[in-house]
Amino acid sequence: MTATLPPHTVHKLYEYRKSLSTKPFGARGKNLVRCNLCLLAQQYCTCEFRSQLKTNAAFMLLMYDDEVLKPTNSGRLIADLVPDTWAFLWSRTEVSDEVLALLNDDRFQPFVVFPGEYANDGQRVIGQVTTDELNGKRPLFIMLDGRWREAIKMFRKSPYLAGLPILSFDAGTIAKYALRKGTREFQFGTAEVAAMAIGAMGEEGNAARLSTWFDLFVESSLLGRNRRPNTTLSERERLIAAFVAD
Ligand SMILES: [Zn+2]
Repeated sequence: MTATLPPHTVHKLYEYRKSLSTKPFGARGKNLVRCNLCLLAQQYCTCEFRSQLKTNAAFMLLMYDDEVLKPTNSGRLIADLVPDTWAFLWSRTEVSDEVLALLNDDRFQPFVVFPGEYANDGQRVIGQVTTDELNGKRPLFIMLDGRWREAIKMFRKSPYLAGLPILSFDAGTIAKYALRKGTREFQFGTAEVAAMAIGAMGEEGNAARLSTWFDLFVESSLLGRNRRPNTTLSERERLIAAFVAD
């Protein structure tokens, strides 16, 4: 399958990070023939269905080490749908000029999307992105993309993030999201947290769309790994239909 849209920031970062590796990434199911863009098994590739959102949101993904190489990473789903997404490899010792330039860009009001309980002294925590918070700017949501332990490390060891407001979801918001999805899962993928951020700025339709894109990704990767009986193929079709239906 060929993608109808040009490669995005995570596709490019994937190629770059791969070029730094001396050996191939040992993902589960490494004998699968994968699509090079969505990293799903070729027969369950979703690239042809990808379409971008009309959204006021922008995203910055700071990705931990080899996170971008993992077929299970859902940060890439944000870049699939949100045109203004920038992805970077995180480093403890240095920060790229591009990251700093985006944080200081007058068009954007940055927010670190992270649990408020980790806030530094004096760091503001908000639960909704109101017009007052935005000051006429567009929100730039910063996602720390890695395992939970790695995300905490990125949060603590990135002094350039320490002064930014935190967008944090309270238990009620999280429970509501989980309920809508019919899940008991309270650990969310990066793309699901991003969907909640989009919801927190009032773009409910876009939030739901990203959430459906995530569900389709999960379903397709389970099918690719033979973790689903073929009878649930119809669930994948249902999700595709829901996503393309606008
Ligand atoms: Zn694909």
